[in-house]
Amino acid sequence: MTGATSSSASPQHGLTDRLARWARGISGKAGEEPTEEQRPRAGSAANREINRRRQLYADIGDFLFAHDLDLTPINFSVALDYLTGANLGVEKAIKAVMMERGKITNGWIESIAADQRADEVTPESLASMLDKVEENLTQFTGLMHESRNSAKDYGAALQEQAKDLVEGRDSEPVLARLVGLTRSMVEKTRQVETQLRDNQRQTQALKSSLENARRAAEHDHLTGLPNRRAFESVLRDELAQAQANGETLSIAFCDIDHFKHINDTHGHDTGDRVLKFVAGLLAKVSDDKCHVARHGGEEFVMLFRGKTAAETCEAVDDVREDLANRSLVNRTNGERMDRVSFSAGVANVLAYEDPRTALKAADRALYLAKEHGRNRVYLAAETD
Ligand code: GH3
Ligand code: MG
Ligand code: MG
Repeated sequence: MTGATSSSASPQHGLTDRLARWARGISGKAGEEPTEEQRPRAGSAANREINRRRQLYADIGDFLFAHDLDLTPINFSVALDYLTGANLGVEKAIKAVMMERGKITNGWIESIAADQRADEVTPESLASMLDKVEENLTQFTGLMHESRNSAKDYGAALQEQAKDLVEGRDSEPVLARLVGLTRSMVEKTRQVETQLRDNQRQTQALKSSLENARRAAEHDHLTGLPNRRAFESVLRDELAQAQANGETLSIAFCDIDHFKHINDTHGHDTGDRVLKFVAGLLAKVSDDKCHVARHGGEEFVMLFRGKTAAETCEAVDDVREDLANRSLVNRTNGERMDRVSFSAGVANVLAYEDPRTALKAADRALYLAKEHGRNRVYLAAETD
């Protein structure tokens, strides 16, 4: 038995072998050229499958390269979803962005991946919590039913004994029975009380889990800001309120400049701290008429009710200037960082047919702000 043959039985070799076969898209031993019988004939199904896979690898590579995207698992998987049509949501979103500004960015992909993660997790955990709520309610109803029946039985028995007392029969055994009845009723009530207390404790715990789940579903865990999903519902509410009160409503799309470079230079953890810092600066502006959210990746959205688009530009520009004038230090190594800045695009929501179109207009203005040098705030032309 040769060394090669004996090692082919080891799990490690098995894995390499499987990977090699997967890569070639055919069955056969790794390191060996397929024999004439194994080699698929031109036009055969296996051959077509190999060509399809080769084409797909090439297309994924072309897509990542054309959009200047990093070779990360998320980017790879989104490209795969898009090119194979495996995820209609991703396909639609990518087509929309390509129509809009021709290019997909790493940050944008991070944000749609985050959206999908939120979509995956929340409904499941909510469903299991709802099951528990249902269970608790059933138990509660059962307890109520039981205690009502006990009270009814007790009432009937009391009446019976009272009749004996009134009719002047020997009262001693009647009294003893009454005491017995009362004791068992007290015991029953105690049991129901304990069960109700347990039920109440569980309901309280469920309530706080539901609150946590709702918070998790609507907030970004890194910055603590509302996420895109929560922002969309705020946008609907604020639009209704602005229309009802005849107020102005403007939206700002902010994107940290060269954030990838910050990550690459100082590391992902420092990048995260920068994100939190910028989120904090933007959040300082918020009040009951100004809402700030993390839209995804290094992008934030702000909504101002009661401010014109020009006033919104000024308010956002103040934050931009504040950030750009700061000199941040990398806490990990004490090094001073290059200036951190963001660019923004602003649009008057009421000038467009719907908020989505206004958001697109703000995004386009942001894109122009980037093109014209970054660290600036642009107002969208309403004639778009
Ligand atoms: P531009 O000025 O054109 O906006 O360039 P950019 O580098 O900021 O934009 P790009 O979209 O190329 O890169 C954004 C980067 O943000 C890529 C992604 O890895 C990073 N990113 C997204 N989310 C997070 C996060 O939560 N934490 C960290 N540290 N990085 C993130
Ligand atoms: Mg971005
Ligand atoms: Mg950016």
